Amino acid sequence: MPFSQDTAHTLIATLREQLGDRHVLTAAEDIAPALVESRGLYRGTALAVVRPGSTEEVAATVRACSEAGVPIVAQGGNTGLVGGGVPYGGIVLSLARLDCVRSVSPGDAAITVEAGVILADVQAAADEVGMLFPLSYASEGSARIGGSLATNAGGTAVLAYGNARELVLGLEVVLADGRIWNGLKALRKNNAGYDLKHLFIGSEGTLGIITAAVLKLFPKPLSRSVGFVGLPSFRAAVELFQHMSRAADRDLTAFEVMPRFGLEIVLKHAPGSVRPLAGDHAVYALVELSSTRPNADTGEDLEGMLAAGIENGLVEDATIGTSEAQNAGLWALRENLSDVQKAEGGSIKHDVSVPLSRLADFLEQATAACEREMPGLRVCAFGHAGDGNIHFNLSQPVGMDKAAYLAEWGRFNRIVHDIVSEMDGSIAAEHGIGLIKRDELALYGDPVGLDLMRRVKAALDPHDLMNPGKIVALGDDAPAALPV
Ligand SMILES: Cc1cc2nc3c(=O)[nH]c(=O)nc-3n(C[C@H](O)[C@H](O)[C@H](O)COP(=O)(O)OP(=O)(O)OC[C@H]3O[C@@H](n4cnc5c(N)ncnc54)[C@H](O)[C@@H]3O)c2cc1C
Repeated sequence: MPFSQDTAHTLIATLREQLGDRHVLTAAEDIAPALVESRGLYRGTALAVVRPGSTEEVAATVRACSEAGVPIVAQGGNTGLVGGGVPYGGIVLSLARLDCVRSVSPGDAAITVEAGVILADVQAAADEVGMLFPLSYASEGSARIGGSLATNAGGTAVLAYGNARELVLGLEVVLADGRIWNGLKALRKNNAGYDLKHLFIGSEGTLGIITAAVLKLFPKPLSRSVGFVGLPSFRAAVELFQHMSRAADRDLTAFEVMPRFGLEIVLKHAPGSVRPLAGDHAVYALVELSSTRPNADTGEDLEGMLAAGIENGLVEDATIGTSEAQNAGLWALRENLSDVQKAEGGSIKHDVSVPLSRLADFLEQATAACEREMPGLRVCAFGHAGDGNIHFNLSQPVGMDKAAYLAEWGRFNRIVHDIVSEMDGSIAAEHGIGLIKRDELALYGDPVGLDLMRRVKAALDPHDLMNPGKIVALGDDAPAALPV
C-alpha cells in the first residue's frame, strides 16, 4: 500500500466528517460485497466504501483522497464482467445514492440522470413520457447508468441504436483533482473543441467519476415481433442476418445467436423456460423487428423474411411470438444464457468482435482450435451476431476440476485472441478491458494507440489514483490481470 496507516486513519476521519458516519463503511461485513465482482473471479481489499449523496460530495471525497494519495475505485451496480470495479487497497466510491432523475424533456428527446440511477429505472422514466431509452441487457435491473457509460456498454439494442456512447448528449464528471467538469448539454450538435465526454465514456473509472449524464430518448416502437429460428450453422445465421438487414432496413432491432449447447443449458437451468421449437438445431437466432410507423405490420414482415429463409435453405424451422408474453418468453431464452453457464462449472470467457464478413470463419476456426486443444470442452459461442460481437465462452469438460480448468485461461486467450487479431477484430467488444484483459491489450493493442492512452491517463490522473492498474498499468505494483 503506497500510503501509511496514519494517512488512512486521517482520510477516514475526514470522509466521516464530510459525508456522515453512516456513509463511510469500514466494517468487514459491510464492505465485503464491494470487494468481489459478479463472477467471483477476483477478491480485492479496501479501506472503506464511501457513499456520497451528491456531485459536490463526490468532488469532496475525490479531493480528500487525492490529497491523501489514496486510490479510488468507482462502483455502480458492480455487475461489470472484466474485474474493473475490484479495489486493491484504496477507497470504493459507490454512486448508489446519486439516484435522481434530474429532468425529462420529451421536447429535446432527452433525459438527465444521476450516475447511480439503475438502468431499468432510466428505461422506466423514459417510458412514463411515452418514449424509449433503448440501452438494454440482462443486468439492467442492477447496473447503474454511470457504470453503463463508464464501460460503454452494448447489449441487445446496439444494432438499431448504437452502444452507450451513441446515446449520450452530455456528461458531468468529477476529475481526479476534485474539480467538477460540467458538460451537461442536451445538444445534438456541439463542435466547440474536443468532445471531452467521449474520453470518459468507456474509460472504466480510470480518468474521472461520471456523476450525471444527458441521454437521448427515442420514439417508442408501435409494433414489435420476435422470432426464434433454428439454423444448420453459424454461417447460415450470418447469411440470414445479411438478408434480413437488407429487407428490414431500420426495423431489424435485434439479431442474437446461440448454439444448441446454449439453448439446452437454458432449458435445463432457467426455471420456467419452454422449448421454442420441436426439433433440434445446431444454431438458434433470436430476431426482432420493431417499427415506429403506424401502418407497419412487423409480424407479416417477419413471417415473409423467415419464409424466404426457409425457401433458400438457411432456416430449418422458426416460431414467432403472438403476444407480448410470448415475446418475453423468447427473449428470456437469450437473456438467461449469461447466467446459466455458471451451473455448468468453470467458463473461460472471451468478448470479441470481428468484421461481419469474417464472423462465420472466426466461429469455425476458433471452435475447431479450442476443441482440439482440450477435447471435451464445450463451446458456448453466443451473443450479438448482428454487431459482429460474440461471447466466445468455453465451458469446462464435464467432471474436470474447476480451478484446474480456469488455470488454462491464458492458454485459451492466446488461441482465441490470435485468431481475432488475425481477422482485424477486437479482443474487447463490449465489456471493456478492466483487469482481466489489461495484459491482453498490452499484447494486441497498437503501440502508438497504447502510448496515447498512457499519455491521456497521465494527463488527467497524474498520480494514478483513479482505478489504478485497470486498462493500462502505469506502476510496477499493479495487481495480476488473470484471476487464477
Ligand atoms: C448477467 C449480465 C449480463 C450482462 N450483459 C451485458 C451486455 O449484454 N452488454 C454489456 O455491455 N455488458 C453486459 N454486462 C456487463 C455489465 O452489466 C455492464 O458493463 C454494466 O454497464 C456495468 O454497470 P455497473 O453499474 O454494474 O458498473 P460497475 O460494475 O459498478 O463498474 C464497471 C466499471 O465502471 C467503473 N464505474 C462505475 N461507475 C462509474 C462512474 N459513475 N464513473 C466512472 N467509472 C465508473 C468501475 O470502476 C468499473 O471499472 C452484463 C453483466 C451481467 C452480470
